[in-house]
Amino acid sequence: GNDCIGTCIRHGCKSITALEMMPEPPEERLPSNPWPQWPRVKKTDYGHEEAIALFGHDPRLYQTTIKEFHKDENGNLSAVTIVSLESKKDEKTGRFMMVPVEGSEQTLPCELLLIAAGFLGSQPYVSEAFGVELNQRTNVKTAEGSYKTNVDKVFTAGDMHRGQSLVVWGIAEGRACAREVDEYLMGYTCL
Ligand SMILES: Cc1cc2nc3c(=O)[nH]c(=O)nc-3n(C[C@H](O)[C@H](O)[C@H](O)COP(=O)(O)OP(=O)(O)OC[C@H]3O[C@@H](n4cnc5c(N)ncnc54)[C@H](O)[C@@H]3O)c2cc1C
Repeated sequence: GNDCIGTCIRHGCKSITALEMMPEPPEERLPSNPWPQWPRVKKTDYGHEEAIALFGHDPRLYQTTIKEFHKDENGNLSAVTIVSLESKKDEKTGRFMMVPVEGSEQTLPCELLLIAAGFLGSQPYVSEAFGVELNQRTNVKTAEGSYKTNVDKVFTAGDMHRGQSLVVWGIAEGRACAREVDEYLMGYTCL
């Protein structure tokens, strides 16, 4: 989300609003979140800082989501209706869910909407086209330490294999995968 904000600003957007489904995190750790747990605190990164410097306010709206899209006469996105969310316990599962607050709708002008809601594996059309099996985390399945899929001659590496990660992992997995492909083709490898 932060990268989307930074990129929009650098492309000269007139305004930007970032919707966050969850409540605003605390500035400092709560007693229920001590070290060495991951600190669940509010992070203001470069994109947020640039938005604050340029537009004079934090672009984030917490506990809010989109309810409706509106288009203009040419079929292009022109506005969105947003709605506030509150945390409510689902009596069936006992889990807390963010649910819309009736009557809290507002309509904002919007020309471009970017979704930064987490990575859920490769686009299904890619894995379906290759017929590769996925694991429980919707990444392409291989044996541990291997890059070979269930389909003969099809290998996988990087985000598609390990899930959303880092460039260094993309490079390392690409190299290790190339090694396995070489071994598969040649019967040995010097890579
Ligand atoms: C917004 C954002 C910010 C990030 N910031 C960082 C960061 O600061 N530091 C960091 O280390 N990592 C960062 N990452 C993660 C990093 O970008 C990824 O982990 C890395 O790029 C994964 O490399 P990859 O080669 O596995 O996949 P990708 O880089 O996604 O490459 C997959 C390629 O496949 C191509 N492709 C898709 N479908 C097809 C098709 N049908 N035919 C042909 N080609 C196709 C795509 O166009 C793409 O070029 C960030 C990711 C995002 C989304």
